Amino acid sequence: MGLENHQSRKYVLGIIGQKHTFISQNPHLTNRSTRGGVLGYPSVSERLNIVSELIQRREDLHEYLELQRRVLQAQLETDATSDKGARSGWNDQVSLALLEQRSLVTKRPIVHFLDPAIFDVDSLISVFRRVVESLISIHPEKKGLRGLLDHIDDEKIDFMKLMEAALREDEASIMSCAGKFGVEPSLLLFLVTTSIQPFIEEFSRRVSPSFFDRWWRAHCPVCGRIPVVARIRNRRRYLMCDFCGAEYLSDYFLCVNCGNIDPYTLKYMRIEGKPGFQIDFCTKCKHYIKVIIEDALREPIPRCVEDILTLDLDVEAKHAGLMRNG
Ligand SMILES: [Zn+2]
Ligand SMILES: [Zn+2]
Repeated sequence: MGLENHQSRKYVLGIIGQKHTFISQNPHLTNRSTRGGVLGYPSVSERLNIVSELIQRREDLHEYLELQRRVLQAQLETDATSDKGARSGWNDQVSLALLEQRSLVTKRPIVHFLDPAIFDVDSLISVFRRVVESLISIHPEKKGLRGLLDHIDDEKIDFMKLMEAALREDEASIMSCAGKFGVEPSLLLFLVTTSIQPFIEEFSRRVSPSFFDRWWRAHCPVCGRIPVVARIRNRRRYLMCDFCGAEYLSDYFLCVNCGNIDPYTLKYMRIEGKPGFQIDFCTKCKHYIKVIIEDALREPIPRCVEDILTLDLDVEAKHAGLMRNG
């Protein structure tokens, strides 16, 4: 079914940029993600509470929330330490201002310039091991997971080399390693990066707000991921990274998938009965991003569960023939 048909059924289509003019304002609804409100991205333990509470209420989302809960549990111990998986003293070796500068000049995410030697390999491997064990308990049929644990024990995996490939987005090395150990490359990347997630999140919290506001690119300035959710707040659109928690300014006229900035080919779709949400999409590449309109929400959506709590928008977008980022 084409997009035109949806317009007549239950969608409202529009041109991006005009959309926020008719959003009702509700000053009482606030969210802890508000930048300038100091609260920032919730910690692993705070997110664990949010997800555990949601699991009680949202049986329909149990599978997704449970996976997230297990990963957070695996990260909890490392997140509670002051260095969060890095070697002590890493702070003295890393100049954040210099990294921000290199990132702005090259337009590459900050993690590209991080030296993997700052990490404490034993700490990372213990998170990795816990996540793999958790996945085995949920999905015992998943190929290669037990083998990964054996290879880690036998030191057949050069974990830091793998980490470096993940930081540099070196797909060829990840694929080659995944092939060698019989796991899907995306799964291997997920497992490796969950071990440094507490550190990268902390790093993201320390990045200066002006760096985020000067970035103006689609991919995350800290970790390089392409966002799947944006928030409109105070008539500005912020892109949300669900890996490191970064939120950064974005032009309304930007397709985060193909970089299209032509306002005539960037549109949005609203769904009847869901005033706090819309789907921004690009008619050139047919990709979309889910958008949370904070002032119009009936109930605030915490950071970290935006993607899971808007899975119904993915279903609507798929019906409309659109493709998800990433
Ligand atoms: Zn990020
Ligand atoms: Zn596009």
